[in-house]
Amino acid sequence: MIPAFDRLGRTRLIRAGLSTHVDGGRVVNPPVIRASTVLFDSVAHLKDIRRRRDDERVLSYGARGNPTAYALEDVITELEGGYRTRLLPTGLAAITQTLIACLRPGDHVLITDAVYEPVRHFARQFFERFSIAYSFYAADGRDVEALLRPRTRLIYAESPGSLAYEIVDLPALARLAHSRGILLAADNTWGTGYLYRPLALGADIVVSAPTKYLSGHSDVVMGAVTTTQAAWEPVNRSLDAHGMTVSPDDAWLILRGSRTLAARLPIHATGALRVARWLRAQSGVARVFFPALPDDANHTLWRRDFSGTNGLLSFVLSNSSESAAIRLIEALRLFGIGASWGGFESLVTLADMCQARTATDWSRHPFLIRLHVGLEDPDDLIADLERALNEKGD
Ligand SMILES: *Cc1c(COP(=O)(O)O)cnc(C)c1O
Repeated sequence: MIPAFDRLGRTRLIRAGLSTHVDGGRVVNPPVIRASTVLFDSVAHLKDIRRRRDDERVLSYGARGNPTAYALEDVITELEGGYRTRLLPTGLAAITQTLIACLRPGDHVLITDAVYEPVRHFARQFFERFSIAYSFYAADGRDVEALLRPRTRLIYAESPGSLAYEIVDLPALARLAHSRGILLAADNTWGTGYLYRPLALGADIVVSAPTKYLSGHSDVVMGAVTTTQAAWEPVNRSLDAHGMTVSPDDAWLILRGSRTLAARLPIHATGALRVARWLRAQSGVARVFFPALPDDANHTLWRRDFSGTNGLLSFVLSNSSESAAIRLIEALRLFGIGASWGGFESLVTLADMCQARTATDWSRHPFLIRLHVGLEDPDDLIADLERALNEKGD
């Protein structure tokens, strides 16, 4: 599995946001620069920076960003192939702030049924309070055209979707959106700009959680928004108005993690493929969700639009009860029970798909087990799964 833009992606990842002049010398890694107040030579200088800062990235005040964060912005812009990037305190904030920036009362937004679940809570709490209408479209996009309304302003995608990795034909979705003057935003946390590039496929805005693979070490949370040049101004302005920034220490941690993304991802992917193939052959497993498997429902689009896979895979047991899933999860020793993913360690979590999806019927197999395959030896992980599947007593 040699990704089409793997070579380009790897070089971009290493060259972006590098080397800063410090005291007359150049260091490879940008240092952590902690600052709230920035000093100016004169009032005229202060006024000049204030005038330019809405459009240009100039250092003016800590709440408007810091040089360490700028370096990380550059890495993410490079990876996603965008115009510019803004960083936010969490991946969820990147999503909600993008929605706030793009929508106003009376607008309608279409959200994928495969969306990261907390976005549903946000829709219930915020959209209803601010008279923004929303509907969920089927994760493969088949009903999008039928759901469009005169005031549809934004289509929000996440491909592959959370938990079951449904893939949408993003170029087709972009054509449909743009033919009606509608913006297309996509959550690219799964693809990190390295396995998938929604902006190149027609999206206007990409949101992501560097919390996951860019960090790679399960010790920091962060969000990012990257846009095309055309979509930049309103998003940037709204983020400034809300005072959105990140700490330089957090930016530095993600920057450090990002440099080894290209080394880590293939290990996650190879391990996950081994585990997925093994799980599919087990009689106690009813279905495995992993687009890199040739018989996965999303395999054709995955082959067309993606350059690789990562460590995420999910499955449902033949015994569809919640207690069977819990017994298996609790019998595992090498998979920590925990949310999030993208770190070096293997994780397992339980999802109730009847809560996580509303436009699709999951009542036959509601309890989905999601694995994040870490950097451990896949043989050890498979042995752990085998023991747990046999032990759980059904
Ligand atoms: C984790 C995740 C987020 C949110 O990121 P946080 O930093 O945890 O807030 C958003 N989208 C997807 C697809 C995610 O997996």
